[in-house]
Amino acid sequence: MSLEDLYRQVILDHYRSPRNQGHIEGCDAHGEGHNPLCGDEIFLDLAIGDDTVIDVAISGQGCSISQASASMMSEAIKGKTLVEVDDLIHRFKVMMNVEQGDDGLDPARPGAVLGDLEALQGVRKFPVRIKCASLPWTTLEEALATREG
Ligand code: ZN
Repeated sequence: MSLEDLYRQVILDHYRSPRNQGHIEGCDAHGEGHNPLCGDEIFLDLAIGDDTVIDVAISGQGCSISQASASMMSEAIKGKTLVEVDDLIHRFKVMMNVEQGDDGLDPARPGAVLGDLEALQGVRKFPVRIKCASLPWTTLEEALATREG
């Protein structure tokens, strides 16, 4: 199996069986993201305690890339501290070529593997799709900013 096929399989798996779907009653942070170019919608609830993401819930609808990215993000940030989440957001953007810096994909960097999220790097070849893949992450940033503001 080629790497591209593997990536496609990971994305389809998250799209068909999205993780952490639902809502959190009385959540600590909430974000809503829309990508009118594609019709993607992401609704994000976060439960935060001790500067740690205790729980994540995602709802919404859209293309396989946006929904798979949201599912992967929910798995990646659950149980992480807010500092670690900020680092993940940055590294994801670097991987998608939206930001400059170290994307942590260097296997020599300890604890820096993005896991399933790496499957989305194939999307970089399709500029229109970068917005789909990034939508959950910009929604996450807004949710955290709203909470702090
Ligand atoms: Zn989309």
